[in-house]
Amino acid sequence: MDDLFSPTYAEARKRFLAAAGANLAGSYPHPLKGPDGGDLATDIARLGPTGARRVLVVESGTHGAEGFCGSAIQLALLKSPPALPDDTAILLVHAINPHGFAWIRRVTEDNVDLNRNFVDFSKPLPENPGYDELADALLPKTWTEASLAAARDTLEAYRAKHGERAFVTGTGGGQYKHPRGLFFGGTKPTWSRETVAKVCRDHLAGVAHAALIDVHSGLGPYGYGEPLTALAPGSPEEVRARAWYGDELRNTQAANSAYAGTQASILVGYTGGAPWAAWTPIGLEYGTRPREDVRRALRHEHWLHAHGDANSSEAPKIKAALKDVFCPDEPEWKQKVIERGREMVGKALKGLASL
Ligand SMILES: [Zn+2]
Repeated sequence: MDDLFSPTYAEARKRFLAAAGANLAGSYPHPLKGPDGGDLATDIARLGPTGARRVLVVESGTHGAEGFCGSAIQLALLKSPPALPDDTAILLVHAINPHGFAWIRRVTEDNVDLNRNFVDFSKPLPENPGYDELADALLPKTWTEASLAAARDTLEAYRAKHGERAFVTGTGGGQYKHPRGLFFGGTKPTWSRETVAKVCRDHLAGVAHAALIDVHSGLGPYGYGEPLTALAPGSPEEVRARAWYGDELRNTQAANSAYAGTQASILVGYTGGAPWAAWTPIGLEYGTRPREDVRRALRHEHWLHAHGDANSSEAPKIKAALKDVFCPDEPEWKQKVIERGREMVGKALKGLASL
């Protein structure tokens, strides 16, 4: 199998554009540049008829550097398109957070976790007292064995006192008070959020039934792609998603969920951006490395930008470690990603055809 995974955003974009060819449906240029000085953009390709009433959106790069696997799935779909039912199209949204993708950051250019950015900024923002308490432990000023050991003690003490659920929310649920911190939701809509609205306006007008597969990586068992929803348990939309994806579908709003979950994710951006469509949106989360390794790499890279020196000699190593926990450079992992991606696309198309 030829390697569909690209080593950089620039390469991923070049291959996506080349494979899309006449199916390229639009580009949204980003105002900033990549580390190589190259252009950044969210690019759109379309398979199937314009004006189709059923559309499956497959998206990569919501969490920037997690984009390598979603981009590879998109390339696989362009190179070998699945059979489409009548009146159905696939819309490929490549690198919705191109800045994070190119710079190997999970966040956008303004340090925002895009999956925490879809809130109403005219209203009081969600509080996260757990994060407030743990902010300095999560991102210590210095990154040394001693500071990390002290931070670990603080985090474990919090977990012991408040329980696993509070710990997950505090450390990963999103926060709106620490602009340089982890899982920051921002102070206003990001460029990427505004681009989601434009994609809905420009490419989903007149759509009756829409599905979304938003591809992520870094959580769960190695090579396994887990379908995730944040729809209200038991709601008609959630019941429909369960009918399509089966018992593997996890609800991040369930009481026993290991996921922090959020009501401010990009799934909300699509359902709100094209409210005329009946939506069945999911996240598809691929497991990579053990959870502790992922968290450490994420914190370290975040520390580099908050307190360290992004031009230092240690920076490339920190970036490489982050890339590794989002996209292991191993053939068996990559093959599982592509096979599972195609499987989930098949389920979504079957589901759309049943409506
Ligand atoms: Zn993600």
